[in-house]
Amino acid sequence: MIGNWVMRFEEGHAGMNSILGGKGANLAEMTRAGLPVPPGFTITTEACREYYRHGSTLPEGLMEQAYRALAELERQLEKGFGDANRPLLVSVRSGSVHSMPGMMDTILNVGLNDDTVEGLVRATGNPRFAYDCYRRLVQMFGNVVFGIEGILFERLLHELKTARGLEQDRDVDADGWKTLVRQFQALIRRQTGQDFPQAARDQLTLAVDAVFRSWDNARAKVYRKVHRIPDSQGTAVNVQAMVFGNRGEDCGTGVVFTRDPSTGRNVLYGEFLTNAQGEDVVAGSRTPRAIAELETVMPDVYAQLAATARKLEAHYRDMQDIEFTVESGRLYILQTRTGKRSAQATLKIGVDLVAEGVLTPAEAVRRVEAGHLDQLLHPTIRSDAELDVLAVGLPASPGAATGQVVFDADTAERWAAAGKRVILVRAETTPEDIHGVLAAEGVLTSRGGMTSHAAVVARGMGKPCVCGCEALAIDAEDGTFAVAGAVVREGDCVTIDGASGRVIRGEVPLQEAEMTAELRQLLAWADDIRTLRVVANADNPEDARKAREFGAEGIGLCRTEHMFLTPDRLPIVQAMILAETREGRLEALGRLLPMQRDDFEGLFRAMDGLPVSIRLLDPPLHEFLPNLEELKARLEHSPAGVGSLVERQELERLIRKVKALHEVNPMLGQRGCRLGILYPEIYEMQVEAIFLAVQTCLAEGVKVLPEIMIPLVGHVNELKLLREMVDRTAVRVLHGDALTCGYKVGTMIEVPRAALTAAQIAPYADFFSFGTNDLTQMTYGYSRDDAEGKFLTAYVDREVLAHNPFQVLDREGVGQLIEWAVEHGLKSQPALKTGVCGEHGGDPQSIGFCHEAGLDYVSCSPYRIPLARLAAAQAKLEADANAVSSAAEALRPAVGH
Ligand code: ADP
Ligand code: MG
Ligand code: MG
Repeated sequence: MIGNWVMRFEEGHAGMNSILGGKGANLAEMTRAGLPVPPGFTITTEACREYYRHGSTLPEGLMEQAYRALAELERQLEKGFGDANRPLLVSVRSGSVHSMPGMMDTILNVGLNDDTVEGLVRATGNPRFAYDCYRRLVQMFGNVVFGIEGILFERLLHELKTARGLEQDRDVDADGWKTLVRQFQALIRRQTGQDFPQAARDQLTLAVDAVFRSWDNARAKVYRKVHRIPDSQGTAVNVQAMVFGNRGEDCGTGVVFTRDPSTGRNVLYGEFLTNAQGEDVVAGSRTPRAIAELETVMPDVYAQLAATARKLEAHYRDMQDIEFTVESGRLYILQTRTGKRSAQATLKIGVDLVAEGVLTPAEAVRRVEAGHLDQLLHPTIRSDAELDVLAVGLPASPGAATGQVVFDADTAERWAAAGKRVILVRAETTPEDIHGVLAAEGVLTSRGGMTSHAAVVARGMGKPCVCGCEALAIDAEDGTFAVAGAVVREGDCVTIDGASGRVIRGEVPLQEAEMTAELRQLLAWADDIRTLRVVANADNPEDARKAREFGAEGIGLCRTEHMFLTPDRLPIVQAMILAETREGRLEALGRLLPMQRDDFEGLFRAMDGLPVSIRLLDPPLHEFLPNLEELKARLEHSPAGVGSLVERQELERLIRKVKALHEVNPMLGQRGCRLGILYPEIYEMQVEAIFLAVQTCLAEGVKVLPEIMIPLVGHVNELKLLREMVDRTAVRVLHGDALTCGYKVGTMIEVPRAALTAAQIAPYADFFSFGTNDLTQMTYGYSRDDAEGKFLTAYVDREVLAHNPFQVLDREGVGQLIEWAVEHGLKSQPALKTGVCGEHGGDPQSIGFCHEAGLDYVSCSPYRIPLARLAAAQAKLEADANAVSSAAEALRPAVGH
């Protein structure tokens, strides 16, 4: 190592990722493996952290060490940095620990100035090339170091081409580039009052400083937030000798994936441009050529590239995303990293690598990001749908998305915040658009290939993306795009299909997702690993069947209130609530009973052989009644005639009743078991319906495992009372079968007091189901609707809270209550089963907590069942790995002594 901040490529290896960054560590690893990597060195992430610790100043001694490393490069290549006779040029490249494609900055051709450019002309005999390199340096330098908007440089280039009647960059000659260099330098002077630095060493210092700074630019911050990368990590800087893909037609640059990142197919996949440098391919400013064409253009290079790709994939045991450059027929590898891929591809590659003997099933299970499965199971466009296809672009990231067209990232963000679904349409997206990509349902671009930043970032986020759709004539200022003789305006609705590349006018019918063979395979492996049971939240037989198809092992939460809200039942429910007498109420309940019984029979049949947990009525009664303001308005407008008198009286009675049931804070009001205790006949009807359904199913030979769940218990007496009612009803309906059918009675734990007094409650419960939505509301004292609508987003933005606690379970607070309740509940009732229902049951991080807390099951919506199965397996693997490493930790001192 050269000093403490700098390490040459020869000295590092892939395992040094945290200090060298991913790019640097892999450049070192490839150098070791003897691959053709241009030589260079890496400035460590530690130097970056030190930079930020000292108010953004380069650590002392850092540049001296860099110059020493540079001197070795000069010796090795027999060139001099800043030497006009044999100029050495380098790139100064960002490279963080986790790959953040395009989010930070890189400057190429550092070392060129008014003198050395002439040296480069002499050395290559190619003035056009030399001045092309120079103008690129001044442009990148102006942009990255001086912060001048890229568009100002682009505009000068555009004007030059127009003035000279040229179409493409490649038509610009040496004199053109030379003129542009002068104009770019003048632009820098105008904008900053400073000159473009001529001294090569100054260039290097400023470039390193700028790359460190780019760690903290807005887009990098957004990216880190989305991907949960810590802000404190910092970036490394790689300084590397330049190789040139822009010297002529036997040169080029490109990106290649070892497998198709969109579908996962085992084919070389990528793009290249001849006579081009670095960013040209990934920036999406020219639409590049498919990698297969390289085989015809440069057969030898292609063969060597294909062999290298295979070698790298085998070495890293995963699909790689590789940057290469060809200089005068010679291949150089400039970067390799684990390739970002779509959810489909993740699965296929994982399963294939197991089949190829590269990975174990457990490794494949660990690799698939659980959150991505959710995207896999989203609906796709129905195959028989009639589509108004406007154009077809490149299928860059699969999935169908519908939304209103917007033309810039800020609007995308604003509209999405207002609850609209948007499709971000851009000529090309740059990394600066990341917040728009994040806000959009999907992304559509008219330029740029499958390896453009837009495509890579969208795939990484699991967003549908169609790119390089050149048929679109986008006029962002006007807010329109024209295609196939039609004009689509901002706000119009389009659908994109990222699997086929189709751009479709309007909304289109979607079909339910299928479980693919790969998904079934992966989940089968996950099932072998996990110990958490995964059950579903389902309120009707159809959802129950869907859940079972996705692998649910029962129903963990059936919310009976949904059964009360259908148009045929609501009037009866209202009559029941409005009844002035117990008799009146019983009459209405009598009509509801057979309906409820049928509901439960349907559920039991769909879940034959698996447990079904039914929660008795939970919400406050006023939720079933008409809105007060509406009633008042109706009364006001009702005619005063004699015939309508009855109607008016009825309305007045309704208003009285609605007013009487009104609560200041319904969330904490008369709901859940409080309702069941005050109006026992409601719960009795529900329980009777359950046992009647049990009886019918038993007679049919259906295996029923009924569980009755009492909501909102806060004091043991509530459960005690209601449990007695359930037991009584069981005997009354089922007689002798009451004992043999093995029904269970349990409670939701969603009031903090219930968690705290778990030891008293548990003897009356066969199971605890943590209703983490309510438990979070009551633990934080947030009413969810108010919190999410008002302050919670601001809290997360300002980092008061790391996450929205309604999405990711709060381990420290809510989690502590759960752990306490499990521990004390089990002490007084060893047979107690515990689980989580509510949205957290479908969140991978929260599932991790459930595993650690020793719960028996999680319950989530049917579509999240596959995700939960995978997350549960990953939680187990993670816990096992932690146990192993802490056991090793415990052994260490013993070994040392
Ligand atoms: P990013 O992280 O945005 O991909 P890179 O540091 O990888 O940034 O560099 C940007 C582009 O410049 C890439 O296409 C890369 O291959 C190219 N590049 C970087 N260093 C060199 C070099 N020494 N010679 C030629 N091309 C280079
Ligand atoms: Mg790169
Ligand atoms: Mg609740």
